[in-house]
Amino acid sequence: MVDSRAPIEASSPPTGDQRIIEHFDVLIVGAGLSGISAAYHLQKECPSKTFTILEARESIGGTWDLFRYPGVRSDSDMYTLGYCFRPWRQAKAIADGPSILSYIRETAREFGIDRKIRYGLRVKLASWSSALAKWTVQAALPTGTTVRFTSNFLFVCSGYYDYTEGYMPDWPGTDQYPGRIVHPQQWPEDLVYQGKRIVVIGSGATAVTLVPALAQAASHVTMLQRSPTYIVSRPSEDALAKWLRPKLGARLAWCFARWKNVLWGMYFYNLARRKPDETKRRILRLAQRQLGPGYNAREHFSPRYNPWDQRLCIVPDADLFLAIRLGKVSIVTDEIETFTEKGVRLKSGDELEADLIVTATGLKLKLWGGMQVIVDGIPVSPAQALSYKGTMYSEIPNLASVFGYINASWTLKADLIAEYVCRLLNYMDARGYDTCTPRKRDPAVVEKPAISFTSGYLQRGRDALPKQGSKKPWKLHQNYALDMLELRFARIDDGFMEFTRLGRVRRAV
Ligand SMILES: Cc1cc2nc3c(=O)[nH]c(=O)nc-3n(C[C@H](O)[C@H](O)[C@H](O)COP(=O)(O)OP(=O)(O)OC[C@H]3O[C@@H](n4cnc5c(N)ncnc54)[C@H](O)[C@@H]3O)c2cc1C
Repeated sequence: MVDSRAPIEASSPPTGDQRIIEHFDVLIVGAGLSGISAAYHLQKECPSKTFTILEARESIGGTWDLFRYPGVRSDSDMYTLGYCFRPWRQAKAIADGPSILSYIRETAREFGIDRKIRYGLRVKLASWSSALAKWTVQAALPTGTTVRFTSNFLFVCSGYYDYTEGYMPDWPGTDQYPGRIVHPQQWPEDLVYQGKRIVVIGSGATAVTLVPALAQAASHVTMLQRSPTYIVSRPSEDALAKWLRPKLGARLAWCFARWKNVLWGMYFYNLARRKPDETKRRILRLAQRQLGPGYNAREHFSPRYNPWDQRLCIVPDADLFLAIRLGKVSIVTDEIETFTEKGVRLKSGDELEADLIVTATGLKLKLWGGMQVIVDGIPVSPAQALSYKGTMYSEIPNLASVFGYINASWTLKADLIAEYVCRLLNYMDARGYDTCTPRKRDPAVVEKPAISFTSGYLQRGRDALPKQGSKKPWKLHQNYALDMLELRFARIDDGFMEFTRLGRVRRAV
């Protein structure tokens, strides 16, 4: 809907190159997994709402379009990483990146969401005016021209990391190394790695995905890790879904497999947290079995932290262990002293020679898509914000964002948040409210870091993360069942959300 009459009053005055003012009930930022989920739920549950998706890139899919390194795949199963409203019908539960991208694209096409996306618009600024009960959003085109929108609600689905570059430690001697140093976030299309000796630096999900994939064509791959990670093999096909599909059909098989995986994930996570030593032993025993008796699994697969202090790495059909067994891959646990003319020299004094070095060293955290957010003239940032139900923020009106699970599939939470936002909007419509603002009034609520995980990118970015509170609804759950209760079923007027009509404050309690 174009509302040329809409009054605009952003906190920063328009500059000369600003043009186009369009109004939507909801603006979604980002056309990745979460943005498409948000759009689907809005269309279905709030059919009278106008919305558009502002996407900085020229394509749909976010993560699954950006990452193009060999072997890129999910590390959680597609029965839960897929949407709750569109069954994942393929046999592979751990799916490759291109299949996931096709699934997102097909979902957008099937529900007409692809027509709602405005590409090449990077949201730079969102400014809330309580007097107007509206966001004014400024987005930049690649040409630098600024386009302005207004909306009643802002739904931020911009992911959690910087798209411009990945994290790269500052190692000495990189200028001496004559070969290519490649970060998986910017995998060059023309990169030839066939027959080469490759060193992959890192031990996270990206490294364990890349290493066996590169090993298929490289002469040898060395995975150089500073410290080990928990690595668990899972079958790439889900046995239950496979068995049920011919009996019950694809949809019911998906439904059973989805719930089995949700429940198994919650059970395993809780078991690991309650009995870390037993879980450690089990994971190591499994790795040893897959690596064979001649390999010292303890040396390279015994992390210093407890299971689920960081995300567990999944390898489908034990591909990494198999590549090690076949001698195509070796693991070195050591630290880099310097890059050299031949490769890297380690603190132990050893030197790893390499024709190509891949730095699977992670992401740079970036929340709210890097946009500046202003509420009634006052800048606010994720770092200052207190999370409400894991999606809205104390003292920030009419804004929700998506941050998925650390210990389960991202989409489980993205779908729940989208459902919640729709319930909230319908509740407000039914009562004529314009504004909803979570308010923390209880001084007994203690603020804590949102995420206690020790993963590198979360540690590096911890100062940029929002806080959580010690009590509901400020407490963040890493638990789908609890979030279901909180987001799908709990009262909207819970006493913490303040609702107002333009000019008047109406508290819901
Ligand atoms: C290699 C890799 C593998 C992963 N595997 C899994 C997995 O197996 N399971 C799992 O649960 N999670 C996984 N994740 C996490 C993954 O990011 C999420 O599962 C999911 O893809 C996130 O979707 P999203 O839409 O929230 O964010 P993204 O996929 O990051 O999409 C965000 C979109 O917002 C756009 N955007 C950002 N800022 C702006 C702005 N200012 N203006 C306009 N547009 C903007 C971006 O261009 C992008 O298109 C993985 C992540 C990576 C990097």
